[in-house]
Amino acid sequence: MEVDSQEEYNKRRPVMCKFPYSGVTINPDGHFVPCCNAPHVNLGHLSKVESLKKFINSHEQGMLRDKFNKSEWPSACRVCKTRREEGKPALMDHMADKYIDWSDKNFIADNYDVKYLEFTPSNACNASCSTCGSKFSSKWVTLDQEAVRQGLEYRNPTWESRATGTNYSMSEQDYEKILEVIPTVKFLMLKGGEPLADKRNIKLLEKIRDEKIDCKVNMITNLSMMNDKILDLMKAIPQFHMSVSMDGLYEQYNWIRSTDFDNVVGKLNKWYMATGKAVNVLTTMSIYNFFNMEEQIKYFTRMESVSMMKLLLTAHPTYITPHMIPQHMIDELNTKHAQSIWCTKHPKLERNKNLLNFTSWETTSPDRFKENKSRVLSWMNFVNKQRGFNIEDHVPELNKVKTYYEKF
Ligand code: SF4
Repeated sequence: MEVDSQEEYNKRRPVMCKFPYSGVTINPDGHFVPCCNAPHVNLGHLSKVESLKKFINSHEQGMLRDKFNKSEWPSACRVCKTRREEGKPALMDHMADKYIDWSDKNFIADNYDVKYLEFTPSNACNASCSTCGSKFSSKWVTLDQEAVRQGLEYRNPTWESRATGTNYSMSEQDYEKILEVIPTVKFLMLKGGEPLADKRNIKLLEKIRDEKIDCKVNMITNLSMMNDKILDLMKAIPQFHMSVSMDGLYEQYNWIRSTDFDNVVGKLNKWYMATGKAVNVLTTMSIYNFFNMEEQIKYFTRMESVSMMKLLLTAHPTYITPHMIPQHMIDELNTKHAQSIWCTKHPKLERNKNLLNFTSWETTSPDRFKENKSRVLSWMNFVNKQRGFNIEDHVPELNKVKTYYEKF
């Protein structure tokens, strides 16, 4: 059956994901993964393939297509499967829909082009977000080593975790493979690390501007490194858009993300004044910002320079997830959010299903809840020391969480 529009496609909601048919996702350590929802599923390494075109048509990515062709879930796609089963939108439901034409023809080709590319050339980053680790940020490499020295064994380097303990930077030869495929790419997702912390991303943007490459670019950035020269470059690319990571407000943001809230909000407004393009705000919900989500939604959705605010959920690392908030506190928050027009109906708010009817692992996964309590506390203490001030002073509900853990 021919499916003409995205709307029609979504109505059908088959067990079918568009990523393996058009997309290549490369982690900041050079590994291919199915998508950003499956960052620990290793499909190979950029240094081992001849080209991205060869990779997308290879057995490794083909295994995912084989499963979807039979309407079966690949084991790698556990997160999307669970989301669909819970009746919530999954990542597979939103892939570059406006920029890649979709019909059933996309699923039966003999040969696939890379139309969607998500990558960063290194883990270079200027920030040390409390929700992150050395796999995604060079700033975390020495901090993770320090955490292990202080007895936080869960920050020991492993490939699957956020704490890999080493830096990675793509070789020039591998970077050429990226440049080679750019002409077929219709949607380029530049992610971090922090994209503006690696000069090769600036060169890539210059190439797209100078050669007038017809490609939508979405950059996920903390924006703190934007200067006038970079602003002018981004402004000169017609299909350039930004998603800015903003987790929290004021000092709460400064603690969670390590960069400066006022500086970033100022740059966000400056970009809007210069280009008229509003940005998406991405808010990763964690135990540190879950208590005042309504306040954050009010703040960001009121900004003219923000077109959309997306709420992202973290289940990993397990010691920063809001699932570690005790059940009775989650119950109160669920009631508050259900009664709030800001949380339920605001037209600028996306993925609010991640916020509503939230669950606590105290009820849904009691063993995990018990196991993780000490990590929640030790991690908060570790980051408090790094920042030189305490998150509990800005999110007092965390003191109640601590008291409850002691009695639990
Ligand atoms: S089904 Fe989900 S997890 Fe699997 S490749 Fe698609 S978006 Fe990624």
